[in-house]
Amino acid sequence: MKKRVLIIGWDCAAPELVFDAFKDDMPNTHRLMQAGNYGQLDSTVPPITVPAWMCMMTSRDPGELGIYGFRNRSDYSYNALSIANAHDINAPTLWELLGQKQKRSVVLGVPLTYPAKPFPGWMVTSFLTPVNPNTPTADRNLQWTFPTRLSREIQQISPNYMIDIPNFRTDKRAELEQQLFKMTHARFKFARYLLEKKPWDFFMMVEMGSDRLHHAFWRYWDKTHPKYEPNSPFADTMRNYYRTLDDELGEMLSHVDDDTTVMIVSDHGAKRMEGGICVNEWLQKHGYLTHKTEPHGITRFTTDMVDWQQTKAWGEGGYYGRIFINVIGREPHGIVQAEHYENVRDELKEQLEAIVDESGQNIRTRVFKPEKVYRECRNIPPDLIVYFGDLYWRSVGSVGYNSIYTDENDTGPDDCNHAENGIFIIKDNKQIDGLVSTKSIYDIAPTVLKEFGLDIPDAMQGNPI
Ligand SMILES: [Zn+2]
Repeated sequence: MKKRVLIIGWDCAAPELVFDAFKDDMPNTHRLMQAGNYGQLDSTVPPITVPAWMCMMTSRDPGELGIYGFRNRSDYSYNALSIANAHDINAPTLWELLGQKQKRSVVLGVPLTYPAKPFPGWMVTSFLTPVNPNTPTADRNLQWTFPTRLSREIQQISPNYMIDIPNFRTDKRAELEQQLFKMTHARFKFARYLLEKKPWDFFMMVEMGSDRLHHAFWRYWDKTHPKYEPNSPFADTMRNYYRTLDDELGEMLSHVDDDTTVMIVSDHGAKRMEGGICVNEWLQKHGYLTHKTEPHGITRFTTDMVDWQQTKAWGEGGYYGRIFINVIGREPHGIVQAEHYENVRDELKEQLEAIVDESGQNIRTRVFKPEKVYRECRNIPPDLIVYFGDLYWRSVGSVGYNSIYTDENDTGPDDCNHAENGIFIIKDNKQIDGLVSTKSIYDIAPTVLKEFGLDIPDAMQGNPI
């Protein structure tokens, strides 16, 4: 029998939902769990979609890939961060390694694959594709599929195909809910077509809807959420969506034989968002950052607001915080002497980890030095990586709050933050251990190579599960 491996990725799928809260709504998932192994999957530092999926597909950490988030510094100037794309990936992906062994892959919606590069197989890129995500088939010049003609098949087979929901940070939740289910059905419809019609060995797809779901609907489900709304019309949206994922899984499984290894994975989990820490307000309050003129009202932070002669550090918002230090000889107007760099980082780490909430309780912020958590630091890493309140708080970059706290996200409504642990389920008809100990996101690529009986490159960080 020819070995085949099918991986279905549910972006942001949380272990407490799949393995526990929605267990009874997901019979297909539970059949797989009982017939194989499953458990929590420890994500990257930070647990963010980009770079997490690519770290999973290469078994390299964000430092080795030199990709620390969606946006990265491209030099030591104060220019805006630039958005990562597939050209930034310097390590071979699973489908490239398998291609060298004459194995063909389907790669559908995996984040950070745009622009699609030629390889032995079929690819549809993901949500960082610079196209109207609602009407991707309208733009024929973009390399969002490989081969290019695959976009015509999408149009024929699944004309509603959406790369992503165009504006998922919205208050129009009823509309968003409708879009969410529509996008997921359309993606799986095309996935089933590829599953049946293409002679693949390795099939890897990622559904983004689960991530958009959590960010928009978490408060209607989680009773511990500070903005929990009981009896909302969206009270069952989360459960219904997971049920849909399970139905789609069932459909997919009916198209593969018993010898196919099936895996379900997520890139990270999710947790309620307690609030936001205004990182630049905090830096200003503690004497690290000075503005040229005080902002009037809440304003998006830009580096041209900063008085660099009086600024030691500035920060970026996002699910986690990033702090950059203004170093003499490195940044254009640096003021921190290189020999004081470590002291400034240590002092910042200590002060950040002492942050309390409005009632005076320490929120358990964790601060990482990139060189301590990565094997290598390519390109330009942040000087510090910050999990505010152990990721129950997000980092808010905007200024003018006159407070370090906010309960509104500056980039639009958002109910949840990312949690460090995602999920994995593996059914390969060899091991039936049920629930096993937490594995690493770096273990997935070696596991797939082992399924195919191929050598695992030394540079890969993980081990086969
Ligand atoms: Zn994600």
